[in-house]
Amino acid sequence: MVPAVPPPVRPNPVRAYFGNIRRAVSSTFEGMTVTMSWLFRRPSTIQYPDRTEKPVREMLPETYRGLLEVDLSRCTACLLCAKTCPLGCISIETCKHPDGAREFQTFDIDNGLCMFCGLCAEACNFDALAHTREFEASVSSAEQLTVRFVDRPGRLVAKAKDLPPRRPRGSILAALIPGFGRRRRRAAPPEPPASPAPAPAAGAEGPENPEGTA
Ligand code: SF4
Ligand code: SF4
Repeated sequence: MVPAVPPPVRPNPVRAYFGNIRRAVSSTFEGMTVTMSWLFRRPSTIQYPDRTEKPVREMLPETYRGLLEVDLSRCTACLLCAKTCPLGCISIETCKHPDGAREFQTFDIDNGLCMFCGLCAEACNFDALAHTREFEASVSSAEQLTVRFVDRPGRLVAKAKDLPPRRPRGSILAALIPGFGRRRRRAAPPEPPASPAPAPAAGAEGPENPEGTA
């Protein structure tokens, strides 16, 4: 025998209406409690780039793959990096002197195309091409994203048997683009207090605003 299905229970519309209001008020109160509790805690975020203790690039790991730079004094113009790049970001042109020496015409890297995969730097056998820890590449036009590393005419291609030591990583890029990535940084303000300051007694002067945002 099939059991009888009980008839559906219809909620009291007046109770449902006031129940909805009660839930809305209590959930708003819960949310605001969490929000208000953070007014008195130390912030867990840092305002970038003004309030970091030191430049972010100095906090990045050595293996960070930022903007590429090439040390032309170690580059033999073997074109391995340009051939390895799947996106064609690297453009290298050379010309030959009558005495057999080769001169750089172009060594450009288009950071607008680059996906920072590191394949080109891996391919370089002479530690000439490397990623830096520079990541701030905002410019006002797409053309400016192409970094031209041939800084003067007559720059000769290096010979593999006679390579100078690698210049410090990041120094070539910084010299080519003065102020690159350092445009908006200001001195870091003092650290905010670890715990909330006690409420001032009635009539007493309040503490100074450590953020200077008043
Ligand atoms: S990092 Fe990758 S995408 Fe960028 S230039 Fe090198 S090979 Fe090309
Ligand atoms: S950067 Fe390295 S791989 Fe690229 S052309 Fe120069 S030596 Fe060859």
